[in-house]
Amino acid sequence: KPQRIAFIGLGNMGGPMAANLVKQGFAVTAFDLSPVMLEKAQANGCSKAESAHAAIEGADVVISMLPSGEAVRALYLGVHGLLQAMNPPTLLIDCSTIAANDARQIIAAASERGIDALDAPVSGGTAAAAAGTLSFMCGGAEHALQRARPVLAAMGANMFHAGPAGSGQVAKICNNMLLAVQMIGTAEALQLGVDNGLDPRVLSEIMGASSGGNWSLEKYNPYPGVMENVPAAQHYEGGFSVALMLKDLGLAMDTAAGSASSTPLGALAKNLYQLHGGDPLNRALDFSSIQNLFRRPAGD
Ligand code: NAD
Repeated sequence: KPQRIAFIGLGNMGGPMAANLVKQGFAVTAFDLSPVMLEKAQANGCSKAESAHAAIEGADVVISMLPSGEAVRALYLGVHGLLQAMNPPTLLIDCSTIAANDARQIIAAASERGIDALDAPVSGGTAAAAAGTLSFMCGGAEHALQRARPVLAAMGANMFHAGPAGSGQVAKICNNMLLAVQMIGTAEALQLGVDNGLDPRVLSEIMGASSGGNWSLEKYNPYPGVMENVPAAQHYEGGFSVALMLKDLGLAMDTAAGSASSTPLGALAKNLYQLHGGDPLNRALDFSSIQNLFRRPAGD
């Protein structure tokens, strides 16, 4: 069992993930550009490093959880990148959501140095990160995944091998594109019912037991007053932001362009989220706030 883990990027997701590794007995050395996040990681039992290079010294496993492909590329590639300082048998696991092509390039560069590497983006959000119940969608060689299993098991409940390098990222954006389409469809159906005199709770119960049932309707209902403990019950605060959904829909559209795939509903979903996110206040709200695009002003 690998014991020493370097963790780079201790934000909303990486922070609780690293804390769970500590709880499971791993020695975690953390680095984040933000001193505030680094302090938090230290309070959760991680050792603090002064730089990413210092964090990976003597590490058996290097995990990154960063906001963008540019950040992940800058971390690993180039003359000052971490890969230049890494040697086998160190294992690299990037959990960030980034373009599949970026993931492929990083994993290929790692492979040139004989380093096992995986793309392992996650689904589940901050609540699952804290509870240690994330789903990992992995791309890379089978033996790399086998090596990663005990580490990922400390942070998640599900592990999928989607295929070769980059496949985890492809699975992730397929899922999130479907989620966006499903959420918008759910919101417009609920509004149509409400506009025609139905109680959204009654309509949700009927559709949930019928062929319109889906995750957004039944587990994450966007209409305020239908469910407790969802962002719709808290003015759409917390949860998965419109800004992050837009990032994932952008990645989905880039991927579709690269494979000449037809994704008309994904494109429309991206457009509707762009319209909704045109107001900067909406960009920080949970993605189920798309309901507001369909709600009529009171008295209309
Ligand atoms: P975040 O912005 O909260 O955290 C990112 C952290 O990385 C920040 O603390 C930032 O200071 C740090 N950072 C940025 N560049 C760095 C660098 N070069 N070196 C060291 N630290 C650096 O973001 P998050 O919500 O934790 O998301 C991280 C990734 O997980 C993203 O790719 C996101 O798409 C994905 N994701 C997020 C969620 C979610 O619900 N938040 C769900 C699934 C996947």
